[in-house]
Amino acid sequence: MATALVDTHCHPESDSFRQDFEEVLGRAAAAGVVQLLAIGISAATSQAVVLLSNRYPGISAVVGVHPNHTHEIRPGDWERIEELAYHPRVVGIGETGLDNYWKDVPLDLQYDSFRRHIQLSRRCDKPFVVHCREAEAEVLEVLREASETAPLRGVMHSFCGNEATARECLQLGMFLSFSGMLTYRRNDALRAVAAQVPLDRLLIETDAPYLAPQQYRGKRNEPAWVADTCACLAEVHGMSMEDMATITTVNARRLFRLDCEALNLPPSVDAV
Ligand SMILES: [Zn+2]
Repeated sequence: MATALVDTHCHPESDSFRQDFEEVLGRAAAAGVVQLLAIGISAATSQAVVLLSNRYPGISAVVGVHPNHTHEIRPGDWERIEELAYHPRVVGIGETGLDNYWKDVPLDLQYDSFRRHIQLSRRCDKPFVVHCREAEAEVLEVLREASETAPLRGVMHSFCGNEATARECLQLGMFLSFSGMLTYRRNDALRAVAAQVPLDRLLIETDAPYLAPQQYRGKRNEPAWVADTCACLAEVHGMSMEDMATITTVNARRLFRLDCEALNLPPSVDAV
């Protein structure tokens, strides 16, 4: 296969994939996706993505509590995340970060959770995955503070910040992952930022079922469509799709220390 893509951020345990999960994986494999990272947003979904990663060699798990869910953490939830973090199929911690858009979760709770995720990521030696929505200054503040004790190993997921934010994230050692938002017709500003990112810090993702790329906008997103973002990023950097696929896949494997396993489907749909 010419291209080997890694979707570094998606939510395959989401209800919206319940009906046709095998078909979704089949289309991803056909599009060249060899591996995907299934991201937890709560203790329950973190458990669910670990189960998926146990069943499919091409799915790796990332566990944590999304900033918009930090107010729902119940006793025992954080301990469960900590335990799952050491599971061999878990390759990262998150998604964590700060979200100042919905305004329904107090920021101090989110700060506390973000810092805990970074500490956990260091303890278990796995990178952390950052969600940042309308909170760039605040996220940078936490990252800067954390970088004072040790180098950062993490990714800004679905990066959509400006050039200054990108530059500081890169200086702090972070990877930047681009989603379907990069393909939006009116997103020249983001493409200009993406063009400045060094090749060895680029990652691609879908954030499926959210953020479908331009040609599928409004539909449920799925991992196969990470190819659209890869093509767009390739164009932005003036290179072939195949080369960008190789670059982003090598980066994903390096950051998350992924095994090179293919997105194997189970023997039959009945097996599920
Ligand atoms: Zn996400």
